[in-house]
Amino acid sequence: MNNEKVLVETRNLKKHFLVSRGLSKKSFKYLKAVDDISIQIHEGEIFGLVGESGCGKSTFGRTILRLHPITAGEVYYDGQAIHDCSKVQMREYRKKMQMVFQDPYASLNPRMTIYESVKAPLDVFNTGSKEERNRKVREMMDYVGLSSGQGLKYPHEMSGGQRQRAVIARTLILEPQFIVCDEPVSALDVSIRSQVLNLMKKMQRELNLSYLFISHDLSVVRYLCNTVAVMYLGQIVEIADKTNLFEDPRHPYTKALLSAIPIPDARVKRNRIILEGDVPSPLNPPSGCRFHNRCPYATEQCSMEMPKLRTINDYHQVACHLE
Ligand code: SF4
Repeated sequence: MNNEKVLVETRNLKKHFLVSRGLSKKSFKYLKAVDDISIQIHEGEIFGLVGESGCGKSTFGRTILRLHPITAGEVYYDGQAIHDCSKVQMREYRKKMQMVFQDPYASLNPRMTIYESVKAPLDVFNTGSKEERNRKVREMMDYVGLSSGQGLKYPHEMSGGQRQRAVIARTLILEPQFIVCDEPVSALDVSIRSQVLNLMKKMQRELNLSYLFISHDLSVVRYLCNTVAVMYLGQIVEIADKTNLFEDPRHPYTKALLSAIPIPDARVKRNRIILEGDVPSPLNPPSGCRFHNRCPYATEQCSMEMPKLRTINDYHQVACHLE
């Protein structure tokens, strides 16, 4: 059990997108990207969120930061409800809650130098004097491993790794406490991924940051995260501390995901679990357990009754009728 203070909490959070009104404009269809998610992220914790593409991970991260309007449910930051606060109130929380996106090139303004991009949040929030802002930008660029000469460049003149360092410097400049990291290294060359991951780990440790770290790469999550949640079709199916999740996965979907991680030692054989069937559409999710049409252990009960996320020990929660 984590005894640190809860920094970010969601309670029954939902984000549904209206995608069709039908020809009569009377029938509504909703894409249930995030459907009833309750989690707690503690101070100084790296909370990993994994799952297949399209399962709603990124939407969940954006909804916490209110980059998407919330359909239902609650979000708390440091004990304060932020799900219903005004845009003006939310502006203050934006300093404390930041996001690093997958594609650093798309995150940076191509017409601004790196220096200008890193400084932009200080200008927007009118923080400090001109000298203080310039000093802070220099310090932050130095912290993430960028030279002052690189500050004069434009995004297209830098490598992917340097661009992501610039994005990280811009993210840190307002001294946030919580960062949603949405696949922050998946667009980078393999050779520089570990450098950026090490930088993120160092930042977390030295600045006591909390991350929601979204990734489809379980090796990266295993390296970086303390706690891991597994998401399937808009819902959390398992949450555990890293050791429990990787050593003793309980949900059949988690077991299948883990069985696909490559083992560096060619002499060690792992039984790969191949899931049958396609991922169902979140527009029309299956009844009962949303995984039942792909689960090798599904029973009649599974297609009728949705399993609740149950606590099986201090470090582990799972949503499966078999547990
Ligand atoms: Fe499989 Fe049933 Fe468990 Fe869902 S509830 S994961 S279908 S055994």
